[in-house]
Amino acid sequence: MAIWNLGSINADLIYAVPHLPTAGETLAATAMDRFLGGKGANMSVAAARAAAHVRHIGAVGADGGWMVQRLLEYGVDTRHIARLDGASGHALIFVDAAGENQIVIFPGANRAVPETAIQAALAEAGAGDTLLIQNETNGQALAARIGRDLGLRTAYAAAPFDATAVQAVLDDLDMLILNAVEAAQLEAATGLSPAALPVRDVIVTLGAEGARHFDTVSGEFRDYPAVPVTPVDTTGAGDTFTGYVLAGLDRGMAMPQAITQAMRAAAIMVTRHGTADVIPDLKDVLAARF
Ligand code: ADP
Repeated sequence: MAIWNLGSINADLIYAVPHLPTAGETLAATAMDRFLGGKGANMSVAAARAAAHVRHIGAVGADGGWMVQRLLEYGVDTRHIARLDGASGHALIFVDAAGENQIVIFPGANRAVPETAIQAALAEAGAGDTLLIQNETNGQALAARIGRDLGLRTAYAAAPFDATAVQAVLDDLDMLILNAVEAAQLEAATGLSPAALPVRDVIVTLGAEGARHFDTVSGEFRDYPAVPVTPVDTTGAGDTFTGYVLAGLDRGMAMPQAITQAMRAAAIMVTRHGTADVIPDLKDVLAARF
């Protein structure tokens, strides 16, 4: 089976600065790093590291060839990533000596994915495949509708959270993954608790507390405690978790096993600095002594 991921691809441009710039100030950075990021790309890499066949649907600009190449090197099928004129999505991240940061994100090509590219990609999808969407691209409602029509397992990672965006796809979803803050925001917007949502499986991630899975058909939920580790950088934990859960389910694992494995992967992830480049692979997860 395959996982089709309509998702963002961002260049994370990280500048070390002596202090965070104030209005009107011109500042020389002392170092610069460039990494592959974006929730979509992170989740594709996580699912590929978890041994799934991942087909990424998205777009980059003229400056984005290196990101497509990086995804390919990480085992992601990149044939459905459109190359557009203009800029790729990117994040300008200023980090001062104390580790404080300022971030400006430009969505660029991520919000200009051609609808024809989404349709052409999903025309290759088959029953039993998974469709994953987040809220960093355009085309979410279109993809979710096609996913429902084709009988795909359609999953939505509701980040960055926007109540209108989630509600636009809610009726087409089989699975919703969101953190505790996002779950509270969704409940405030809809009046529905996770257990009452019209989505078969809802997973609420709880950071160091673990995760709770609601089976809304049976009306039951189950808690999964997190693996105890000492975190150094929690960036990408949720993306790693989502990629691993879906890869596990795609390989035929039952939900408890898929969640347990995803929590092990996310626990390793929080002990590492970085995003897509350092997402643990299945070998690391299976070998971990916890
Ligand atoms: P997000 O990054 O989307 O806000 P969470 O912070 O809820 O998501 O983290 C997602 C998953 O990562 C959690 O369900 C848990 O399994 C794992 N995780 C996050 N933080 C920690 C931590 N400090 N220790 C162990 N596991 C963690």
